[in-house]
Parts: sequence; C-alpha cells; structure tokens
Amino acid sequence: MSVIELKDVSKLYGFGDATTLALDEVSLTIEEGEFVAIMGPSGCGKSTLMNLIGLLDRPTHGEYSLGGRRVSRLTASRAAKIRRDRIGFIFQSFNLIPRLTALENVALPLTYRTNMSQTKRLKMASSILDRVGMQSREYYMPNQLSGGQVQSVAIARALVNNPSLIIADEPTGNLDSNGSRLVMELLSEIHKMGNTILFVTHNPELTRYANRVLYMHDGRVIHDEKTAIGRVASTASEGMYKIAKMTEEDDLAGVSALMKAKPHKDNPPARRGRKRKTTTSKRRATPKKKPAKTKATK
Ligand code: ADP
Repeated sequence: MSVIELKDVSKLYGFGDATTLALDEVSLTIEEGEFVAIMGPSGCGKSTLMNLIGLLDRPTHGEYSLGGRRVSRLTASRAAKIRRDRIGFIFQSFNLIPRLTALENVALPLTYRTNMSQTKRLKMASSILDRVGMQSREYYMPNQLSGGQVQSVAIARALVNNPSLIIADEPTGNLDSNGSRLVMELLSEIHKMGNTILFVTHNPELTRYANRVLYMHDGRVIHDEKTAIGRVASTASEGMYKIAKMTEEDDLAGVSALMKAKPHKDNPPARRGRKRKTTTSKRRATPKKKPAKTKATK
C-alpha cells in the first residue's frame, strides 16, 4: 500500500524576481515499509521535499496524500495532529533540550497526553530508550553523551509516539564513523519492524541501508533506483549524483561523509568474519592504469 503519494508537487519560495522554484512538479509514490535514501547536491530541494512530506510545510501546487488521505491543504493544527500521531523526525542537529535528561527529552512529545501520568510517560520513554540501547544513560544530560548517543536519544524521542513514518534529514551529518554506524543500524532495526523510513544523505556508502535511492537535481527527482539492502546503490557508487553540478560545499560534504564512514587503516572496525585480502575501497583507491595513448602518426 502506498503511504506517500505526491502528484505534480511544486514549491515556490519568495515573490517576483526573487522567486525560487524549490520543487518542480515532483510526482512520487512511496510504499509502506520502504527505506528510501534521498541524495543530490545542496539546494536541489531535498529538505523542502522532506518538509512537505513531513507536513512541516505545504506545496504551492499539486496534491499530496499521506496514508490515502489528501493532506496538501490542511490547516496548521490538523497538520500538527497528523505529525504528532504518524511522523517521527530526526534532524542533523539533534535538537535535544540541554537542561533536560535523556529520559525527559524522550518523554517530551508525550506531554500533550494529558490523561497520562508523568510516571507513565517516563516509563514509556525509558522503554524506548531501552530499545535504542540507551537505557543505562537515561539520567545523563545531553552534554555528557557522545554524538552517536545523542542522536540515539533523538531517535528514541522520534519513536516515542509510535510513528509509522520516520523522516531523517542528514541524520548522520554531524557524526563520526562509529556514530553513523550506530544511527544507521538503529534505523535499520526500526525499518525491520515495518516502519517506512526516508533519509537524506550525502554519503553513497549509506545507501547500503536503503532499498530505494532517489537522486534529486534542481527541484526534480532525476533518478529512482531500487537497490538491495546491504549494497551501495550502483548509481551512487558510480557518482550518479555528480551528474548534477556539484558545489564545492557538496564535494566537501561528500568527501567528509565518506571519510567518516570508511575506517582508517590504523583503526579498523571490529569484523565478524575473516578479513578479505582486497577491500572494495582499496580497489577503488588504486584504479587500474590505462595504457598510455600513443599519438596516431600519419
Ligand atoms: P537541499 O536540502 O537539497 O539543500 P533545500 O530544499 O533546502 O535544498 O532548498 C531548495 C531551494 O529552495 C534552494 O534554492 C533554497 O535556497 C531554497 N529555499 C529553501 N528554503 C527556503 C526558504 N524558506 N525561503 C526561500 N528559499 C528557500
């Protein structure tokens, strides 16, 4: 069953000469249980698309149905209710409240449940923290946790209302390789429980976790690839998203994301099986030399 259906959705910002077309007639269907990676250069409309799908914003034109219900023209309060009940958000900057413990941060979205006692709310938050492996840290303040742990708490907070759709805008953007792995594996677990997950990333390596990759450029989805979980999407590894003109900022984001995800030779990750002789990264790092071209002589 499709959870998300966008039909000719456009989003314009500004007026007159200063108008920006952030989304340009995007039509897209996402089925229940898909794990979708969204890639593309800065400014191509990824966050705008996430914000529209997450009902944080409304399209200028076009139709959007969420779970079979048309939601493109909802009032702010109705949109807020659907968000609260169905959607969990995870952002690059973790947005935890610094003066609250991990537990209190996770319990925060339950505050609107006035019929639920504070003790019950904290119990629920505690069991979600347990699910993300953070129960032993529930009384820690955010500044006492590592980046990966803070993001795990943010994921717990996104899950506390039991949403079926998780929207993550560059969830590993501020994390090192360990933190990124922790977060992506958590999202994988959540996906296995039947949730639909959409995440934005600059890092082709993270397409391993997805079963579909969308590539955006200039407000459009220019490529849509189904991919096997566990494999880097072929177009991502071939640099498909570089077809679009990349800014220096994108190159840096892509390179730093790759460096974070790739273990340094002095600091290899724990491996379950035996080490293979040749790694993919090595192969890629030392491409075969092409024979030098000889000039054609007349
Ligand atoms: P991405 O997430 O791929 O970097 P965005 O969705 O943030 O791209 O932005 C798409 C385009 O819309 C960009 O040109 C950006 O400058 C513009 N844009 C995004 N949000 C706003 C806004 N609130 N006001 C005006 N322009 C915006």
